[in-house]
Amino acid sequence: MFTIMRQASRGDDVYEEDDSVRSLEARVASLTGHEAGLFCASGTMTNQLAFRASLLVPPASVLCDSRSHVYRYEAGGLASHSNATVYPVQALANQGHHLTVQDLEREFIVDDGDVHMAPTRLISLENTLDGTVMPLHEIQAIHRFAKKNNVRLHLDGARIWNAATAIGCNLRELTTEFDSVSLCVSKGIGAPIGSVLVGNKDLIKKARHFRKMFGGGWRQAGGLAAVAHWCIDNVWPTMKETHVLAKYLAEGLEREGRGAKVYIPVETNMVFLDLSGSGIRLSELSRRLEEEKGIKIGNRNAPESQTQVRLVLHWQISKQDVDAFLQVVQDMATRASPRFIDKSAEDRKGKFGYLAK
Ligand SMILES: *Cc1c(COP(=O)(O)O)cnc(C)c1O
Repeated sequence: MFTIMRQASRGDDVYEEDDSVRSLEARVASLTGHEAGLFCASGTMTNQLAFRASLLVPPASVLCDSRSHVYRYEAGGLASHSNATVYPVQALANQGHHLTVQDLEREFIVDDGDVHMAPTRLISLENTLDGTVMPLHEIQAIHRFAKKNNVRLHLDGARIWNAATAIGCNLRELTTEFDSVSLCVSKGIGAPIGSVLVGNKDLIKKARHFRKMFGGGWRQAGGLAAVAHWCIDNVWPTMKETHVLAKYLAEGLEREGRGAKVYIPVETNMVFLDLSGSGIRLSELSRRLEEEKGIKIGNRNAPESQTQVRLVLHWQISKQDVDAFLQVVQDMATRASPRFIDKSAEDRKGKFGYLAK
């Protein structure tokens, strides 16, 4: 990757003069079935620019899944940058697997002149969401619903590469029906930095203007764009193996963890683990993984009450790494014999050898 970065163009992207950036933007636009693209520093920026460029006149509201990144993890940017309010929608059908038209209909606010309301102007979907894939037929149904009601449709496709890989379809089948799509190049496909926003030329022109206003115009971004190209060519094709490995990890955790549960279906590269039935403490698992195997899962300081953790696999994780992980789980589960299974962690904290160690 460093060789590619060294050889990349050094144009000034604020003046749209960098060849690597322009070709990356054109390539992602073409892959997704859109007119134009804009390469930015982060996925939060591409989501927020899409909203800002779409919601020009308040009052406005946005509908999105209550678990979605744009609602929970972007520091309230929709309110701050776009003067819009969000109605988070609960997915009620299919055990909450994904939003449906019925879910959206429940919360939709018609623009009928009622001065109390902020009419729905935009629907934002996320795919994958918690590693699960939104079915194509649902995207198409929501697209028809959005058109019929004359509202914009945005996709937070930070992990859309994973969704296309899981379904085995072209990226564009999952992206053309949206007015704007944000795709991350630094998550699943492993580039150092960045996200690309795609849409029609007018939207991208507006987003570029706002990007400059927000201080996100960057100059010699060519090295980053060149390496993103490389990752699309070389890392994306390996994604299927990563998904297989995630399933292998999930099965191993349920087998070796003796009561450990994977509580969201593993459809791509994420494994959501619940240790509450296993007698294994998350903080201890995290510490032992790091000390014994050099594996960091980032919950070393987890409070005693925390029993759930998200594990995300990437292209540089091997089967040996996963086996090393499972070995630690197996070892801990064996010692956490049923007698010691911690039914009330708060009461018994530290009383048993395996807990106090
Ligand atoms: C990571 C992520 C983002 C934001 O990306 P950053 O580059 O971290 O700002 C947005 N949406 C989803 C679904 C993500 O996973």
